[in-house]
Amino acid sequence: MEALPTNLQRLQGNVAIVTGGSRGIGRATALALAAEGATVVVNYASSRESADRVVAEIEAMGSQAIALPADVSKADQVEELVNAVMEKWGQVDVLVNNAGITRDTLLLRMKPEDWQAVIDLNLTGVFLCTRAVSKIMLKQRSGRIVNITSVAGQMGNPGQANYSAAKAGVIGFTKTVAKELATRGITVNAVAPGFIETDMTADLKAEGILQFIPLGRYGKPEEVAGLIRFLAADPAAAYITGQVMNVDGGMVMA
Ligand code: NAP
Repeated sequence: MEALPTNLQRLQGNVAIVTGGSRGIGRATALALAAEGATVVVNYASSRESADRVVAEIEAMGSQAIALPADVSKADQVEELVNAVMEKWGQVDVLVNNAGITRDTLLLRMKPEDWQAVIDLNLTGVFLCTRAVSKIMLKQRSGRIVNITSVAGQMGNPGQANYSAAKAGVIGFTKTVAKELATRGITVNAVAPGFIETDMTADLKAEGILQFIPLGRYGKPEEVAGLIRFLAADPAAAYITGQVMNVDGGMVMA
């Protein structure tokens, strides 16, 4: 796929946090927001080199970025992350809750720790980051929050009871928080990718998933980032809140 559309600079002077910005969809999102002129916080858990590479790519585009480690499933680390951003830049305009993991196995084999790890990051992490950042956005009376859910949270997927429960939870959370924050002009939306080619899905390609994708191919991280960029940066997205939008090649047609 070609590079993202030209640099429109609609987020010039704005600060965006992308959780799990070091790889995959988060990386593509960090680059897409930087193309809009945003200063980007590239959060990561352990792959510091990947995060540093994303920062270098953003700087080469002429935008500012910083790589900040934090396990966003942990309340204290989320507080530290957001405090560090506030100390450095004093504002947060965009939050993309992207960090996520899978611990796939069928229900009867699923250990409580497989369940808990996925709920802790994919659902509680979204709550912790949104709570920390919404305090700032409420004072600013502006902000855009995009939560990454999944088609698995809409239609279920064998082997992903933990993951689909967390992702369905993200949808309910998004709608509730959208209602709570709407009076201050803050939008909260969810993006539901289908099968996107990243490290997360690298081992799943043999599983005959293509037959369930009407467009007949896997998606690219840049195609998800394009919608996130629209929701975060486009003036036309200011009147969109509480929505779940799919980027899935037609896997889910509600
Ligand atoms: P990925 O390539 O595996 O990247 C995951 C990212 O999350 C990495 O940057 C990773 O950081 C970060 N991360 C992991 N644990 C973390 C933690 N505890 N705290 C902070 N960051 C953490 O995944 P992806 O495919 O891009 O997925 C991104 C999001 O899209 C996830 O929420 C996923 O559930 C969702 N999604 C993906 C697909 C798909 O087909 N790929 C489909 C639907 C939804 P490190 O680099 O430090 O490990």
